[in-house]
Amino acid sequence: MKIKADFAIINANELVTFKGASKKPLIKEEMENLGIIKNGAVAVKEDRIVAVGTTKDVLDKLEKGFEVIDASGKLVTPGLIDPHVHLIFAGSREDELEAMAVKGIPYLEIKERGGGMPTTLKKTGEASTEELIKKTSKILDIMLIHGTTTIEAKSGYEMTLEGEIRQLEIINFLNKTHPIDLVSTFLAQGIPKEYENRIDELTDEIVEKWIPEIAKRKLAEYCDVFCEKGYFNLDQSKRILEAGRKYGMKLRIHADWLVHSGGAKLGAELGVVSADHLIFTPMEDIEALKKKGTIGVFLPTTPFCYLGVYAKAREIINRGLPVALATDVSAANMCESMQMMMTIAVLQMKMTTEEVLTASTINAAHSIERANEIGSLEEGKKADIVIFDAPNHKFFPYHYGINLAEKVFKNGRLVAERGRRVM
Ligand SMILES: [Zn+2]
Repeated sequence: MKIKADFAIINANELVTFKGASKKPLIKEEMENLGIIKNGAVAVKEDRIVAVGTTKDVLDKLEKGFEVIDASGKLVTPGLIDPHVHLIFAGSREDELEAMAVKGIPYLEIKERGGGMPTTLKKTGEASTEELIKKTSKILDIMLIHGTTTIEAKSGYEMTLEGEIRQLEIINFLNKTHPIDLVSTFLAQGIPKEYENRIDELTDEIVEKWIPEIAKRKLAEYCDVFCEKGYFNLDQSKRILEAGRKYGMKLRIHADWLVHSGGAKLGAELGVVSADHLIFTPMEDIEALKKKGTIGVFLPTTPFCYLGVYAKAREIINRGLPVALATDVSAANMCESMQMMMTIAVLQMKMTTEEVLTASTINAAHSIERANEIGSLEEGKKADIVIFDAPNHKFFPYHYGINLAEKVFKNGRLVAERGRRVM
């Protein structure tokens, strides 16, 4: 019997499928295996993929009456997935970025002069919900036109009980109203000014009041913590994550970003789903994460912008830790494009073009526990598909700094075309 389809994308020069990678994340040399079909095609019915194969095979299987989208000479991949985003904030900090990146002024000095995270906490707290939704929608639109169809979105830019609830409510609202799917995370991030020397007390508040309330309202799937010098220390981070787990949330951690804080080791101890940054993580802690089945998430933007030191991607991959890539969009530095992350990860972190695409699709899906639904082009999965105006996947680091995404499909619908949202 022939298969019914609404449309089929045919004649793709490369159709990247990641066939068979939905059960567990790809590691080591498995990350090189994109499951490419030359002259490939993918057919879609409603929000699902119904056929994948060579153009001839797919066309033979389909019942007449579907729309044909020609992808001759082009690259077709699963929708890109961004598993680490600080989504909801007001204001901008472009002056600070220049001060840090060009003039080499340390972050702590910027904070002393009245900038940094406290400024964002204040501005975000003062912004109306409408303003925040408007600003956030614009960020999501930019992500979408660059080929990102699912993200993980964190709160953490208000750091009051009411403020964090508001942030998570906005994330849940946008998940329903914007084409991009958002996975919500409560992040214990910034330290408000009034708590600067009382982080233990802030931790008590979070553990005893915030997390139970957020859980009661079912606002967050994950609990995450900024385990970092000047933010939450190891002991405080542990208390926050354990409270998150106690109230039914799964765990993520910001680990070893600015210094070797021990965040990755704590992440391993608690068996977090993802440990993110891993810039100063010793290899014994990478081994510990690996044993627990944690996924490492690399965030190349802060090293690219001002830190200068990247996670040791080659060594971490060679040791067998599965890894994903993410933008780390935040008030401190903004780049919504996963294409740009792939570029930096290849050129600066020495990952291969195959590894970065794996890290931005199927492994990113595993890092938010959605690999049964997204991250690969296989029958039954969500029809999240991107046609790139590029002949092959090696183009990401080669033709960079521009948007190669030509058509973006989310849940089987064309949502963006040539840099514009079309619905
Ligand atoms: Zn982050």
